[in-house]
Amino acid sequence: MGCGFDSCDRPVEKGGLCAGHRKQKQRGGRLEPLNDALAGRLTPAQNLHEAAMRLADSDSEDDRAFSRNIDSHRKAAITYARHHQVVKTLEAFDRRREAGLRVAGPAPKLSAAGARAAVDEAGGIRAAARLLKVSRNTVRAALRRRLV
Ligand SMILES: [Zn+2]
Repeated sequence: MGCGFDSCDRPVEKGGLCAGHRKQKQRGGRLEPLNDALAGRLTPAQNLHEAAMRLADSDSEDDRAFSRNIDSHRKAAITYARHHQVVKTLEAFDRRREAGLRVAGPAPKLSAAGARAAVDEAGGIRAAARLLKVSRNTVRAALRRRLV
């Protein structure tokens, strides 16, 4: 038997609906056709939330169910943390790209003299970094090299 939502032919999970449409109903929104790629799938944050709710609702008498819920909550938390870190990294790359900075690869060679000249010309470390299209840390590191 298929899902109760018209033209949806996914298998019924509970309440006469497929997993994806059941989620839509639970979220209180209108039922809409599912995007195949996203059908029944939650974002890492939603998944972590669901796992936390399942864990909170666990029957404390049922040790196996409880440890299963602990385990799925742990996995959801790890997935969420990884996803969050990846998103942050990609955003940082975008910001660097937009600022005309390198995104990957070895740090460019910048001599202490070159850094000093750029700082003098641009009038500061921040402006020198922009001028040389390197990070401020690269300029600072180059300046420090002269001091050792
Ligand atoms: Zn459905």
